[in-house]
Amino acid sequence: METYSAQFISELVHTRRTLHAMPEVAFNEHKTAAFILNWLSDYPELEIVSGIGGTGIIATLNPGKDGPVVVLRTDMDALPVNELTGLPWQSNTPGVMHACGHDGHMTCMLGAIKVLYGIRNELSGQVKFLFQPAEEVGRGAREIISSGQLDGATAVFGFHNLPTMEKGMVATIPGAVVAGSHGLDITVRGHGTHAAFPQEGIDSIFVATQILSSLYQIPGRFFSPLENIVISIGHINAGTVSNIIPAEVRIKGTIRTLSAATSKRAVEIVQTSTEKIAEAYGAKAIVSCEQGLPVGINNNQLLQDVHESFFEAFGPENYTLNCPPGMFSEDFSCYSQVAPSLFTFIGTKAKDDMPFLHSPYYDFDDEIIGTGVKYFVTAARSILG
Ligand SMILES: [Zn+2]
Ligand SMILES: [Zn+2]
Repeated sequence: METYSAQFISELVHTRRTLHAMPEVAFNEHKTAAFILNWLSDYPELEIVSGIGGTGIIATLNPGKDGPVVVLRTDMDALPVNELTGLPWQSNTPGVMHACGHDGHMTCMLGAIKVLYGIRNELSGQVKFLFQPAEEVGRGAREIISSGQLDGATAVFGFHNLPTMEKGMVATIPGAVVAGSHGLDITVRGHGTHAAFPQEGIDSIFVATQILSSLYQIPGRFFSPLENIVISIGHINAGTVSNIIPAEVRIKGTIRTLSAATSKRAVEIVQTSTEKIAEAYGAKAIVSCEQGLPVGINNNQLLQDVHESFFEAFGPENYTLNCPPGMFSEDFSCYSQVAPSLFTFIGTKAKDDMPFLHSPYYDFDDEIIGTGVKYFVTAARSILG
């Protein structure tokens, strides 16, 4: 199994901590982009396109060379979270934090660039190193795709660190890997009235409670227990004071599934049942189910193509195809709609009470940098042999 020198890793750890200290939220990754561009300037044969979607960067190795085009993707953005780790490399910007480990993902990409640049003549095609902005708001991947820079790509690879999976474990799965989402936005319109005279109006809050109760029952009563679907409500707003029944209630939530067909059916059922329930009480429900991110689908053929190389690189004890798909969304899923793609998780769990992603106490585990570098390098080499 290939290993990297202690000096190579320690330089990357330093880079990771530097990036950690300078977090920027979605579409604002200007200093981050400048840092990466400066770093890339050490590799003069890379062809660089910057400013994609504002801050995105694609560096192409072996530009123009015939053969497959392998895209390696990292996200760049941080979150509006106030860091509480107290680490020496803690965020220098109050209220902004690399709480999802995108600092670590970028670092693994930088390491992979160094390795692959060194063997560029042995590669039978191109590698596009993609630094994607704005993953956390689910819009960066679409900016990259609409730039046309990935047109004709042979394969797209990405990974995310995962604090709930054993440290160093590399896990993926054929087919659906992360959920597709629909945003749910419902306005229930009744007639406002005095709280002591409900019969004089149409109680929008009461109607909303009936709708909520129905929404929560949809996954269990309309879908098989073997289908993957979550409907959750995260926002309700209505009323002003205790003795007025308000005319309107606003409900917002999300529908998550692992198949486009399940999503389609869920949206239809939510729409119809919500409208009918409101109607039954003389109220009106205006329902909007907007498509968020698509289901992320790992390409089976691509996975077969790289499987043996991954197995050799990580060993049977650290590589599995039994990764449970996540019900969260990741905008990497957009790439699976334009090219064969593979999304993988790398575990960082070292103890039971690991802070999870987006926690103010989270920090990317530097000990998996070597694994992340190897993931990108192995992916590229397995296609470009
Ligand atoms: Zn993330
Ligand atoms: Zn995140």
